[in-house]
Amino acid sequence: MTDAPARSPDADWIDEAGTSTPDWSYETTAVQTGIGRGLGVTIGIPVHHAAAFQFETLEQAQEEFQLNTGLSYARLQNPTVRALEERLTALEGGAATIALSSGQAATLTTIMGVCRAGDHVVSTASLFGGTSGMLNNILPLMGISATLTANTPDAVRAAMQPNTRLVWAETLSNPAGDVPDIAAFADIAHAHGALLGIDNTCAGVGFLCRPLEHGADIVSQSLTKWAGGHGGVLGGSVTVGTQHDLTRNPIYTEGGPNSVLNVRGDAALAWRQRWFGAHQLGMNLAPQNAHQIAQGLETLALRLERESATALALAHWLEAHPGVGRVSYVGLPGHPSHANAQRVLRHGFGAVLTFEVPDPSAFLPRLKVLRIAPNLGDTRTLVVHPWTTTHGRIAEPARHAAGVTPLTIRMSVGLEALADLQADIGQALR
Ligand SMILES: *Cc1c(COP(=O)(O)O)cnc(C)c1O
Repeated sequence: MTDAPARSPDADWIDEAGTSTPDWSYETTAVQTGIGRGLGVTIGIPVHHAAAFQFETLEQAQEEFQLNTGLSYARLQNPTVRALEERLTALEGGAATIALSSGQAATLTTIMGVCRAGDHVVSTASLFGGTSGMLNNILPLMGISATLTANTPDAVRAAMQPNTRLVWAETLSNPAGDVPDIAAFADIAHAHGALLGIDNTCAGVGFLCRPLEHGADIVSQSLTKWAGGHGGVLGGSVTVGTQHDLTRNPIYTEGGPNSVLNVRGDAALAWRQRWFGAHQLGMNLAPQNAHQIAQGLETLALRLERESATALALAHWLEAHPGVGRVSYVGLPGHPSHANAQRVLRHGFGAVLTFEVPDPSAFLPRLKVLRIAPNLGDTRTLVVHPWTTTHGRIAEPARHAAGVTPLTIRMSVGLEALADLQADIGQALR
């Protein structure tokens, strides 16, 4: 899929924005895509604070309302959001992206793009708390059921049902760092006529891993984390790949000549995701937020490479520390997903690790550099006690399945110097 189109076909109205090429490295793509070239064209993606766009004739408006490929109303398209979508598509190596207001909006949109009442999702149990909440509590309200399984191809295969439309996993699960065998999961999903959706949040928008290149069909992610990168903005996105088989999903085939597939062709999946998440439910990303996220993407590679290196050094140091219990980091050879990680990750093993301390409520308030906050991918190192916060609302067995115990501290490593982080953790453990 490296020959994915550098830009989607409907992007012509972005000023000369076709500057992305599939040959560019991640770093070049991150700073160059979505920006025009020419006299007086802005450097960087400008913010279009606009809810509506003008037409000159009745016919222009009528055509736009039929095709929905240009500009009319900002719930359908906004130039700033569209430029960000171009950049995200290029970074993930996909065919099209829909940017949304949060990672949760992206998860819901991904699932509703392929499921309706009576359908079923298979997901690994090692999940972000908000996703397990959605699968266990929200989707059943709409008649969609889910089976949560272990992170192995055999477990996923055993959980498949005739009505399974989507297999779901996180590239690097939050917080346990479990890495799925993406290619094997894709084969299982495809053999059942289902799609594989991957939450790529902790792999940093295609920098550590591009799931579409390993056979996934959809990549969903929170842009709040490494994309925004500075703890300042919420966002999410859904990127669809260039090849996926929807011919066994009745949502796309019912309706005969009017089926979504017949009307939209290869773009059917992306069209339905945009129609559902943005046009109909209005979970749009605001242009100011799109601008901030686009700017965050420009330094993502530098940040996540450094943060991954610091995380690996900290994991080794914590393992050797007498005051620390179990350390879980997928970069350590003892981690159950280490082999999968070596196969699908590049540039490092990510910035999130967990470790156990004897008394979290005594440890956390003693920290002077690390901050207690429930975010990931910030420039600052953040810690939380997942048992009572991020995973506090899900059933205890599900917390254990996600790698969380009452003693677990989750850390998202930032850009501070390794020695300062070690000194701070050391003094807080004493
Ligand atoms: C944070 C997170 C989400 C949800 O994203 P929001 O932007 O907070 O809505 C989804 N998946 C993972 C893995 C996350 O870490």
